[in-house]
Amino acid sequence: MKLTFLGTSGGEGYPGLWCQCEYCSYARTHGGKNHRENSSAVLDGDVLLDLNMTTFSQAYRLGMDISQARTLLVTHPHEDHFVAQHINWARLPAAHPYAPGEDCSRREPAPCCSDLSPLRVMGTRHVLEAVSQGQASDSLQGRADLDWRSEKIAVDFTLARPGVTVELGEDLRVTPLRSIHGPAEDYTVNYILQRGGKTLLYALDTGGYDDAMWEVLRGFRYDAVVLEGTAGLSLAPNPQHMNVEKLRRFFAALEEEALLTGKGQRILSHMAPHWTPPHDIFAPMMEREGITVAYDGLTVEI
Ligand SMILES: [Zn+2]
Ligand SMILES: [Zn+2]
Repeated sequence: MKLTFLGTSGGEGYPGLWCQCEYCSYARTHGGKNHRENSSAVLDGDVLLDLNMTTFSQAYRLGMDISQARTLLVTHPHEDHFVAQHINWARLPAAHPYAPGEDCSRREPAPCCSDLSPLRVMGTRHVLEAVSQGQASDSLQGRADLDWRSEKIAVDFTLARPGVTVELGEDLRVTPLRSIHGPAEDYTVNYILQRGGKTLLYALDTGGYDDAMWEVLRGFRYDAVVLEGTAGLSLAPNPQHMNVEKLRRFFAALEEEALLTGKGQRILSHMAPHWTPPHDIFAPMMEREGITVAYDGLTVEI
């Protein structure tokens, strides 16, 4: 597996949009890896992990074409992770596809005039609500069925059921994991991805897992874990996110239970500026503990 980080910031971006603190000022002055956009990632060029406002522009900056991605795994509908409007841009014209060489300017207007095969979207019912309640095309308004395929929008929706493994084609097995994060129960899921004999845990956003989800976690051994580092050096209790102390305990628990493979890469993403030092400072600090701090554009082989 090859994982590219398109963005690695918490919700406010890094530097924070409204912030002039020491960390944000450093990031503004120094740029480079210190500058982070909202978190999303792409696996092997065909699997998107979250889809936020900067996912497409970040892919463009990195010279990646993600329009042909076949699978989108959405962790939760917080807007730094998922913007339902993007689904609308996959709306197709009534007569689809166009004949080769046909002049699309003469046909019924539609956001997408390319020959697009359905994008398999997996998410919680809260993601489904965001997609179907008017933020996407009229054709999906009020849909109550949980798994569906749309002929009008090139989308195929599968509900994420915590602990239930689903085959999503192209040698990809996905197991959603209910995470402690968000305003309601079952609001957010993290994902265990298996492909080509490798296993990846992608864990943004989360403050941890309940006992039932720990049981699910124990069913796998991980070649890589991407964990959120939102609260960085903050010592204030934050049940919905990880600070350094908490993420150390999480990695230690995985090690104690022998859930990491020999290589077992430990990687952080989703850094918030007010608590997490700029990359120039934070990366070497965590590297001493064998933890990699991701940056926008980093690709890791798993
Ligand atoms: Zn977030
Ligand atoms: Zn969130």
